[in-house]
Amino acid sequence: MSLLLETFLNLIRKPVTRVEKDFFLPANHNLESTPLVQAPIAKFARGIPAFIGNNYKDLKLNADKELKEIIGNPGKNSWVSCKECSICAEVCPTNAIRSDEINLQIDYGACLQCGLCVDECPSKNLVNSGFVDVYSDNRSELVVDYNKEKFEPSFHSENSSDSEYLEFKEKIGNKGFNFREVCAGSNTGVEWELGACYNNVFDMESIGVRAVASPKHADVLLIAGSMTDAMIKPSKLAWDTMPSPKLIVAIGTDAVQSASQNTEMYPHTPGYWIAGDPPRPDTIVRAFRTLMGRSHFKFRLAWHSYLQEKNKELSK
Ligand code: SF4
Ligand code: SF4
Repeated sequence: MSLLLETFLNLIRKPVTRVEKDFFLPANHNLESTPLVQAPIAKFARGIPAFIGNNYKDLKLNADKELKEIIGNPGKNSWVSCKECSICAEVCPTNAIRSDEINLQIDYGACLQCGLCVDECPSKNLVNSGFVDVYSDNRSELVVDYNKEKFEPSFHSENSSDSEYLEFKEKIGNKGFNFREVCAGSNTGVEWELGACYNNVFDMESIGVRAVASPKHADVLLIAGSMTDAMIKPSKLAWDTMPSPKLIVAIGTDAVQSASQNTEMYPHTPGYWIAGDPPRPDTIVRAFRTLMGRSHFKFRLAWHSYLQEKNKELSK
């Protein structure tokens, strides 16, 4: 075969590395019909901590309590009433947990998914969920309050109030978009995972999301890491150079936290938030699909469905 013919055939050949089409959520994905929204690969991850209660656990806790009464004061890993405890809040390295007598509040946008609170909880009320999809167009949607007595999350789904986000989604999102990544103080974890998004497993280019070198060609400014003083000006310059409609996406737990707390350091408030330290490639791809309007995902709705499933599973 001539070289010319072979080159031509390669141009029209279907890619052999494309993943199965149901590996990611389909474009018309309906969350209510599929409460568990993780790709199979995510089940090996620790994920965010779940505050759950169930019959099995009540039995176990009663046994632990009796043991405590028999052997006196066996130390920090013994059962304590959740109402009188705040160990998880004390050990959390990012202050993602707030605890009082009645409620436990977990800010999943600030959670590193490190599992420390789960390891240290004396009453085994927290478990590693394996749930890694923590992203939203609304920062406050990533914060969940639980009632300590009933182990119930307060639940209502929040809508985006950001008109720039909605305009972006309508005009650009569904067709795909270009992003310029700004490493504003990142430890390069996010950059590694972004690179992995373009390998032959995750193949992010196939959904129309491309990295570009110049902000002039970008629709999205992807900001990773806590904003450092040195990067305030370059980030603003990049943002000002971008044509409208445009959007800032805070990617990685450090960026999510930094953009929530130091808003004045950012050229504009992010319109989309992707947490995780760093977020996994499958999470990034799903988050971008949602940003583009190709799949429907609401963090609290998905998390609520997950907790219901988990409780059912554990009480069997
Ligand atoms: S950062 Fe670690 S300790 Fe804090 S809530 Fe998340 S998993 Fe728990
Ligand atoms: S979840 Fe565990 S560590 Fe946190 S307050 Fe309750 S008992 Fe204490």
